[in-house]
Amino acid sequence: MIKVNLLQYTNEPEKLVAAAAKLCYSSVGVDEIMENLTDEKVDKFLNMLASLHHESPIEHVSFTFAVEGVSRSLTHQLVRHRIASYSQQSQRYVRLNSFQYITPPEIEKNIDAREAFIKAMEESQRAYDKIAGILKDGYIKDGIDVKTAEKKAIEDARYVFPNACETKIVLTMNARSLMNFFRHRCCQRAQWEIRALADEMLKEVKKSAPNLFKYAGPSCVSGPCNEGNMSCGKAQENRNKYLKG
Ligand SMILES: Cc1cc2nc3c(=O)[nH]c(=O)nc-3n(C[C@H](O)[C@H](O)[C@H](O)COP(=O)(O)OP(=O)(O)OC[C@H]3O[C@@H](n4cnc5c(N)ncnc54)[C@H](O)[C@@H]3O)c2cc1C
Repeated sequence: MIKVNLLQYTNEPEKLVAAAAKLCYSSVGVDEIMENLTDEKVDKFLNMLASLHHESPIEHVSFTFAVEGVSRSLTHQLVRHRIASYSQQSQRYVRLNSFQYITPPEIEKNIDAREAFIKAMEESQRAYDKIAGILKDGYIKDGIDVKTAEKKAIEDARYVFPNACETKIVLTMNARSLMNFFRHRCCQRAQWEIRALADEMLKEVKKSAPNLFKYAGPSCVSGPCNEGNMSCGKAQENRNKYLKG
């Protein structure tokens, strides 16, 4: 089960974005701008930025998430988003004695597929334990201390683990990068797991910066669909879902 925790974000994100944007067009200094920024003016600036596609001011605010209960398939897709920072649980340092895995819903609901899947997971664990044991014994025989032998053994044994392997990751993205992430990953063309993650992340950021992320979601929410003939054709449905708050 995906767990998304918004750990921290820039203080008063919407006010900061509005101040950065206003500075671009103002003759006065930032202190005066901050003092005079009412909630109403902040909303007005955010709306103006959205309509102009003036995106650099939203780079000043960042959001840090802890994500658990996701597969390595998902994190492989996630880390393709380069404008971000990541820290992921290491399989080189953490021994997985009983590794957890993510079962895709379509496999879960098909008895035969599920049985084959579980068998493959169990086989992976057996192979990992066996290979780690063989390597570790060999290293110890060669005179390597137990701690180093263990680390060297598990970092190679982990190669047998599948994409389904559960993992944990902390990530930080600024709002501009998040908007791009939501455009790609809330889209029906994204895979179910990363789409579920993107939807959860969007729900979380909307709590702390509702106006900033008012038009966030797949590209069809704020403009035309970017997917050409791969389009799902559900722009209106998507708008209803993502614009409702
Ligand atoms: C439905 C779907 C299918 C996909 N299929 C594949 C696939 O089959 N194979 C595959 O390899 N990937 C695939 N991807 C990944 C995709 O190509 C992107 O790598 C990923 O979505 C990250 O997006 P990004 O580059 O916009 O994000 P970021 O890396 O966060 O970049 C943000 C933006 O910064 C700019 N930027 C960043 N780096 C550069 C650069 N080096 N040069 C110029 N501009 C830059 C671009 O404007 C970019 O949009 C898929 C993604 C989706 C959503």
